[in-house]
Amino acid sequence: MISRIRGMNDILPPDSILWNRIEAAFRRTVARYGFYEVKTPILEETALFTRSIGDATEIVEKEMYTFEDKGGHSLTLRPEGTASMVRAYIENPETDGDSIARWFYFGPMYRYERPQKGRYREFYQFGAEAFGVAAPEQDAEMMAMAVHFLNEIGIKDVTLKINSLGDNSDRQAYKEKLLEHLRGRESELCEDCKRRMTTNPLRVLDCKQENCIAVAAGAPLIIDSLGPEAGAHFEKVKHTLDGLGIKYVVDPHIVRGLDYYNRSAFEFITENLGAQKAVGGGGRYDALVEQLGGPSTPAVGFAMGVERLIALLKDQGAQSLPSLDFFVIPMGEAAQEYSMKLGARLRSEGLSGEIDCSGRRLKNLFKRAERIGARYTIIIGDQELAEGAANVKNMESKEQQRIALDDIGRSTLK
Ligand code: ATP
Ligand code: MG
Repeated sequence: MISRIRGMNDILPPDSILWNRIEAAFRRTVARYGFYEVKTPILEETALFTRSIGDATEIVEKEMYTFEDKGGHSLTLRPEGTASMVRAYIENPETDGDSIARWFYFGPMYRYERPQKGRYREFYQFGAEAFGVAAPEQDAEMMAMAVHFLNEIGIKDVTLKINSLGDNSDRQAYKEKLLEHLRGRESELCEDCKRRMTTNPLRVLDCKQENCIAVAAGAPLIIDSLGPEAGAHFEKVKHTLDGLGIKYVVDPHIVRGLDYYNRSAFEFITENLGAQKAVGGGGRYDALVEQLGGPSTPAVGFAMGVERLIALLKDQGAQSLPSLDFFVIPMGEAAQEYSMKLGARLRSEGLSGEIDCSGRRLKNLFKRAERIGARYTIIIGDQELAEGAANVKNMESKEQQRIALDDIGRSTLK
């Protein structure tokens, strides 16, 4: 037997029902904000990710599915969505010269991680990107849209945590302060972080190793190194969120796991998923479009993971039972033929249901009616056909009603 690849999942019902609910809620939410979908290939040139996410990040150092194709090109299964969005933005400039684009995506991502609850090698992310606007209101709008989505599906106990990573010059100055703190504590850091001290010291703040977290806890805060412009931007983001009634917590330890962020960085954190605390995150990335060869374009975005949201919804006791309007049990050949036509009529009225064709025993069929969540079961045999009426059983109240065959429909299967 061939089994699925470690860390990759089949999404089966009833989970797929919750899944679709999440996807539909996201699509509804972003539509209200005027965002449109962009679909990009799952495979990209490896350089797209190394140049954007950053050489010294966990993702690029350890987690990418990279291979050579038959032509000798290095390709990578996308580990996240933003890099591809930026590539598409650069390659397909809006024809009317408007640099503003409001895009969203939904699809599978790949990271070679150690599989555990809420952490898989294939997982689904959806996210949104707003290109072309540098104003702090845009950052706040993205955060508000994400919160609006979480409310739409009824997710509770998720906190929006925000921080500012400042501008480039702020980060250069901060790096020095951080290095001062780290020097002399090298022995407490993991091997990766020792190396990161020379390649990218900020990454030490994002390390998941306990010792490194302890060292990072006492480090100076980037928020104390903001220049006046980044500082004013951050204040305006908070002011706008306050005005919208969006609750947030300033967490100066948020740096995000990708290198391209500047100014706003934010995460959606829960305490209900064990070790996997982040259900989503995002931030501003004003340099990335230019860095990947496009015109200088400010941008801000966020991404969320479907699997962790499903786990949260289940944890909250969300129901994901299948449900159908009807289940027809025909007894005999003539009844079967009639039932097929009855099913067609009921479906054309917008009802959903199943007509049994298996001819299994009645007892088993009633079990099936329950399993598929049928609200009504309709038994039709020769006698029912002759009388032109059938017994219709309300599966919840267990009441039976005799209804004329022609009257079975939207008004009677309420
Ligand atoms: P973590 O800190 O948990 O590793 P991350 O910072 O790597 O998360 P992002 O790159 O910000 O995650 O991705 C956004 C969201 O995608 C996460 O908040 C999470 O919901 C989801 N996600 C990331 N990696 C995985 C994974 N391996 N399996 C399932 N979901 C994931
Ligand atoms: Mg990660």
